[in-house]
Amino acid sequence: MGSRVYAGRTATTRTERVVYSCPCGERFAAEVWRAVDARDQAEAKKLQDGSLNQVRCPSCEARADVQVPVVFHDGAAERLVLVLPDGMRHRELEERAALFTQLAEDGVAPPAYVLGADVVFGAAGLRALLAPPASEFEAQSEPSHPAVRTAEQPMLAIVDERRDKSGPALSLLPSLQDDETPAPQPH
Ligand SMILES: [Zn+2]
Repeated sequence: MGSRVYAGRTATTRTERVVYSCPCGERFAAEVWRAVDARDQAEAKKLQDGSLNQVRCPSCEARADVQVPVVFHDGAAERLVLVLPDGMRHRELEERAALFTQLAEDGVAPPAYVLGADVVFGAAGLRALLAPPASEFEAQSEPSHPAVRTAEQPMLAIVDERRDKSGPALSLLPSLQDDETPAPQPH
């Protein structure tokens, strides 16, 4: 028991060759990522910003996203995530089943976190899932991040502001000033 990192092929960084049909009529072979280990930081970063499986047509030079499921594996954090493209929101159960079929074919005993794999949709879904423990990943794409982390402080500031505003009005009624009830504290 204890922590054990899954070493099966399904969760190991790998690519797959596909043929992409560009709207311009050109067909071309492209290499797309089907699994990314978190230790492969460049690919993991691209998976999280949605640029991992972008291809460029050799004929018209248009860029396109190849919409394939990608397995994200962070063994150190004991996390396996199936990242489905937004266009596969209707196929979660099928893709979960396909993942488990692949895991079965690995022939490697899976730790609990592999059996409890998360499913998210798109890079945004993955960022949202990873955000709380690994805040540095979203730091660059989310400038409002510091405000989120200190969410309690702005709330207190609002309460203080409200008190200040009610101050002058209450001072006209000396009888009320003393038993002014404190604004409710956020919990
Ligand atoms: Zn093209």
